[in-house]
Amino acid sequence: MFKVNNNFLKLPGSYLFSTVARKQREYQAAHPEAEIIKLSIGDVTQPLAPAIVERLHEAVSEMGVAETFKGYAPDLGYEFLRSTIAKHDYKSRGVDIAIDEIFVSDGAKCDSANIQEIFDAESKIAVCDPVYPVYVDSNVMAGRTGEYDEKTGLWSNVIYMPCKEENGFAPELPTVVPDVIYLCFPNNPTGATITKEQLQTWVDYANMNNAVIIYDAAYEAYISEDNVPHTIYECDGAKTCAIELRSFSKNAGFTGTRLGFTVIPKELKDADGVSLNALWARRHGTKYNGAPYIIQAAGEAVYSDEGKKQTAEQIAYYMNNAKYIYDGLKSAGYSVSGGVNAPYIWLKTPDNMSSWDFFDYMLDKANIVGTPGSGFGPSGEGYFRLTAFGTYENTVKAIDRIKSL
Ligand SMILES: *Cc1c(COP(=O)(O)O)cnc(C)c1O
Repeated sequence: MFKVNNNFLKLPGSYLFSTVARKQREYQAAHPEAEIIKLSIGDVTQPLAPAIVERLHEAVSEMGVAETFKGYAPDLGYEFLRSTIAKHDYKSRGVDIAIDEIFVSDGAKCDSANIQEIFDAESKIAVCDPVYPVYVDSNVMAGRTGEYDEKTGLWSNVIYMPCKEENGFAPELPTVVPDVIYLCFPNNPTGATITKEQLQTWVDYANMNNAVIIYDAAYEAYISEDNVPHTIYECDGAKTCAIELRSFSKNAGFTGTRLGFTVIPKELKDADGVSLNALWARRHGTKYNGAPYIIQAAGEAVYSDEGKKQTAEQIAYYMNNAKYIYDGLKSAGYSVSGGVNAPYIWLKTPDNMSSWDFFDYMLDKANIVGTPGSGFGPSGEGYFRLTAFGTYENTVKAIDRIKSL
C-alpha cells in the first residue's frame, strides 16, 4: 500500500496568504460596500515594459518560422542570456562570473526551494526570523527540520536568527554553526539591508566554518543606497562559500512570465571537495527542461538600453509609493522601517497589538489588507508588512485612510 511523504504532513496547516485572502473575502461578503485596498501581496502591478513586450512579440514570430524555430532550450539557459547576465549583473560591478556558473530557471522561488536537494539530509539550516517561508518549508518537505512546536512556531532542528528592531533587522552570527545559511537582502518581509562590511562578516564566517550561504538577491534592483552590496560576490572569498539567487520578477515584472537564475561558482566545493556547480548542473539536466526561448529573449531585452530605462522607471514608481507609505506612517506616529532599498515597509504594531489583531483592525477600520508579520516567523510578531506594489492612487488613498484613523 502506498504512503505519502510523511514530511509534507508536518507542514503547519494554514498558509499565510490563503488566510489573508480568506479574511479579506469574508470581510467583503459581510461589508459589500467596503472598498478594500490590498497592500499585502508581493506581486507587481505595472505591465511589462514596452521594450520587453516588443522582444516577446518578435520571439513569438521567430518560433513560427522554420529557420528560427527553437525546440528544447539548453537546460542551463541560452548563451545569449547568460552572457548578458554575466556582463550586466556581474562584470559591471567588478565581479567575474563565467557563463557556466549561471543557471537560468523559471524563477527564484523554485530555485530557493530546490537548492536544498543538493545538500546532505542531515544538514543543519539557519534562517532569518522573520523569513521568506519557502526556505523553511522546502526543508520541512526534505525532512531536515525536526519537529514543529505549535506554541513557539519553531522547528527543533532549524537555527533561527532573530531580526528585530533591536538589531536593526540584521541577523547576528549564530552560536551553533549551521551547514546551510539562508540570507535575503534587501529583505522580504522587513525591507532591511546590510552593508557590504556586514555581508563580508558572513562570508568570512561561512568560509571559516565550511558553511554555504544561499543568498537571495531578488530585490537587488531596489537598492538605492551606496555601500549596500548588489551581489554577494562583491565580498572577498564569496565564491568559495556562496550561491546567489536572482529573479526577473521584481525588477522587470516577470512574475507572470517567469524567469530567474542561480549562480554557483566553480570554486564552491563541499567538505569532500565535491563541486556544487557540477551537482546543480546534473540536477538541472535531470529535472528541468529549460525556460522558454521567448521568455529568455524577453529577459535579454531587460538589459537593453530601453529595457533598463523603462524598468528603472517602474522601480522608481514603486519606490515613490514606498516613500509615501513610509513618510505617511511615520507622520501618523508609527515606528516604521524598510522602504528605502526595498518595496516593503515593516511597521511595528501600536500598543503591543498582535500582528493578526492589527490585521483585523486595519481591515475593519481602514479597509486595508496588509500582511501580519507573525506569518513570517515568531520574531515577526508585533509587526506588519505593507507593500509598495500597488498603484500610486490606491497607495495614497490607503495611507490617507490610516492617517485619519
Ligand atoms: C518574489 C521573491 C522571489 C522571486 O520569486 P520568483 O519565483 O522569481 O517570482 C524570491 N525570493 C524572495 C524573497 C521573493 O520575495
